[in-house]
Amino acid sequence: MNDRADAVSNRAADPACLFCRIVAGEIPAARVHEDDVVIAIRDIAPRAPTHVLFLPREHIASAAELTPADGPMLGRLFGAAAAFARAEGLTDAGYRMVTNVGEWGGQTVGHLHVHLLGGRSMAWPPG
Ligand code: 5GP
Ligand code: ZN
Repeated sequence: MNDRADAVSNRAADPACLFCRIVAGEIPAARVHEDDVVIAIRDIAPRAPTHVLFLPREHIASAAELTPADGPMLGRLFGAAAAFARAEGLTDAGYRMVTNVGEWGGQTVGHLHVHLLGGRSMAWPPG
């Protein structure tokens, strides 16, 4: 695991951002994982038996903003999601990780997050 210094770029929190407020503890959420770079919360409107959102503590609007310097952070983000899925017993059957970008991508919260969806078979392509 790379350490926090490699995995954060000190982007400023956005006080108007719902997920920045959840990270700060201003709005409650069911946290299922947290470390120095990433937190994971249960989705408030689950679309599968397991539906957890993995987000960096720092504010990044979406995957459209990512650069190669974000590689260590992304390793931590996807690594945390994969470890959680394994601990939940989802790995053998399989699951989905997805990140929505912008209006047509279906993004409704402008803070990068990966959805982990599991516990049922997924259709492809998504609607
Ligand atoms: P997006 O639509 O941006 O890909 O995903 C945003 C997700 O955040 C949605 O699945 C939505 O149900 C979830 N969500 C919206 N508001 C809250 C909230 O206040 N708490 C939690 N835990 N999830 C939320
Ligand atoms: Zn944010």
